[in-house]
Amino acid sequence: MHFTQKIYAWIICHQPTPNIMADINDRLPQNIEGRFYVDTTCIDCDNCRSHAPGFFRRDDDIGSTYVYRQPVTEEEISDCIEAMECCPTESIGG
Ligand code: SF4
Repeated sequence: MHFTQKIYAWIICHQPTPNIMADINDRLPQNIEGRFYVDTTCIDCDNCRSHAPGFFRRDDDIGSTYVYRQPVTEEEISDCIEAMECCPTESIGG
């Protein structure tokens, strides 16, 4: 990740977020089954993919992120929770 992207991601992660959350009813069908998912409000900012590239991937056809692998270990789950907390639109559920 480029330095300016890291700065941007840090700023996003430390902003107070409005009271919104991912909606399971808007879950993208591209997500693999499991706890974590991305909904249709994703703005394709790349934060989650940068934080946890082992679980979040871009679908070029829809221009959005989806979960392609669910975390298993505590460390992996922690990575996904961190990515979820850094999503500026709270498009990640889990
Ligand atoms: S952080 Fe949120 S808005 Fe950004 S790409 Fe990931 S799911 Fe989409």
